[in-house]
Amino acid sequence: MTALGLILPSTCAGCGLRGTACCATCLADFGPPTPVQVPGVGPPVWTLAAYHGAARELVLGFKERGARELSAWFGALVACALIAVGPGPWTLVPAPSRRSAARGRGGDHMLRVAKAVWTAPVAPVLRLGAGVVDSVGLTAGARRQNLAGRVEVCGRPPPGTTVLLDDVITTGATAAACVRALRGAGVRTHAVVALTSARPHQPGL
Ligand SMILES: [Zn+2]
Repeated sequence: MTALGLILPSTCAGCGLRGTACCATCLADFGPPTPVQVPGVGPPVWTLAAYHGAARELVLGFKERGARELSAWFGALVACALIAVGPGPWTLVPAPSRRSAARGRGGDHMLRVAKAVWTAPVAPVLRLGAGVVDSVGLTAGARRQNLAGRVEVCGRPPPGTTVLLDDVITTGATAAACVRALRGAGVRTHAVVALTSARPHQPGL
């Protein structure tokens, strides 16, 4: 919480309710991890909510509107989700943000979530290279093109198996590029866990 946050009461980033950064009603949009179909990614992809309604507002509030304290809520949700994803231990690798976007947000927002998952170590080894543009509005093909060869592994790759952590799965282009980059560095990705997904759920898995 910022110094200002100690003075001004929080409002729910999902619905505007005063008194908390995330109210119980909006938090209820998130549930246990659900598998989603994302062709081309490789490892299974799990999501905690569909990307609409309060869940979408919470993610956007966290990512774009400065509701940084939501990292504690998201971190707790991911920690619970990891129990269902399978037996660990894993190292969490946050999906990277564009450098200019991260600067504008006061840091890499998914790294903040990963650090709030107290049950797993974090290896922020992925970077987006120069030339990656904001993917909003791009087609699936354009998103792949935008990222082609531009996700880099920096520093020492984490030992063992990793779980990739992302905020929103849309086409899956970012997750696929991240998994590919990790594989190229000899790192196996056990699963992708996304806070939200615009993909159809995949019942029965
Ligand atoms: Zn709310």
